[in-house]
Amino acid sequence: MISHQWKLVSRPVGWPKASDFAYEEVELAPLGDGEVRVANEFISVDPYMRGRMNDMKSYIPPFELGKTMLGGAVGRVIESNSPELPVGTLVEHMKGWRDIAQGRTAEFTKRRELPGLASSVYLGPLGVPGLTAWIGLFVIAEMKQGDSVFISGAAGAVGTAAGQLAKLHGASRVIGSAGSAEKIDLVTSTCGYDVAFNYKDGHIARQLAGAAPDGIDVYFDNVGGDHLEAAIYVMNDGGRAAICGSISSYNEEKMPPGPRNLWMLTTKGLRLEGFTIVNYWQHADAFAAEVAPLVASGEFEWSETIVDGIENALDAFYGLMNGQNTGKMLVRIAP
Ligand code: NDP
Repeated sequence: MISHQWKLVSRPVGWPKASDFAYEEVELAPLGDGEVRVANEFISVDPYMRGRMNDMKSYIPPFELGKTMLGGAVGRVIESNSPELPVGTLVEHMKGWRDIAQGRTAEFTKRRELPGLASSVYLGPLGVPGLTAWIGLFVIAEMKQGDSVFISGAAGAVGTAAGQLAKLHGASRVIGSAGSAEKIDLVTSTCGYDVAFNYKDGHIARQLAGAAPDGIDVYFDNVGGDHLEAAIYVMNDGGRAAICGSISSYNEEKMPPGPRNLWMLTTKGLRLEGFTIVNYWQHADAFAAEVAPLVASGEFEWSETIVDGIENALDAFYGLMNGQNTGKMLVRIAP
């Protein structure tokens, strides 16, 4: 059987170029003992993948040159030498960037079918983005009832979940920023945001101060750069920031200078704490216990931007980096 796969063939400098990648047909070996073959239904396209294209020590190893890239995916077992994962089982795994995946039983996690919901839910509100939002808000920033919360990247996969979770936990005001008028409408109408602004419309600190007349107690940072500096200006004494990501710098050839107002950490007693969810899996059950019933009952909203066809996965990645997604960016693979 043939699997269509995306490989990294050279390490991008700045914005990735099409020539940094190769799209290939790979003939799969016959299944070994304890192995399964899975037809992916959705593959996840994520900002952190840009970091894995660099040869740099990080919390997750770089993609290997000449090898198929990896990433989150959900699919269905189509051939099995594993009694635990019979044909038809829905599974989640890390063998993305390909249409057909194959490997040992332990590399795949069985997922429950949720009536009426596509399997992509495990890559969005019930997957890494939802869990990231929950951990950032409640474990890292220790958000409390009555806090005023600012979330950048509000219309993305993490941001759409974070807005709702903050509201559900009693935030007094949820403020978001995103890159288009349509995204502002979406997050203020469906994702728990009281107010949001388009960061492309002008000075971020001024727009944020206008949207948060009483300041902010919690900042959930998906963007870094100017957004982080603006948040530090507007934070109240004792404010906490969960530094979740810095997408504004992922494609920069030279790292931009950091916030110029770090002295305010001292004068206001602020705490900024970075995190990656790989160190917080122990909270996954508590997160699922709260959010899965809300997702199943339709009380939790999410949005997806779907690009069809494994051959278009690179376009999906560019789209994500260019802000063309609303909510979770996915590649859907037809059976
Ligand atoms: P998103 O769905 O938010 O997609 C990325 C979005 O980033 C784009 O749609 C775009 O929206 C925005 N963006 C791109 N360039 C810029 C820029 N220069 N300035 C401001 N915004 C920009 O992705 P995710 O929800 O998956 O991830 C959000 C953040 O969370 C990322 O930084 C990611 O690395 C991080 N993350 C961290 C994890 C952790 O464990 N710490 C786990 C998962 C994600 P717009 O139109 O608004 O510009």
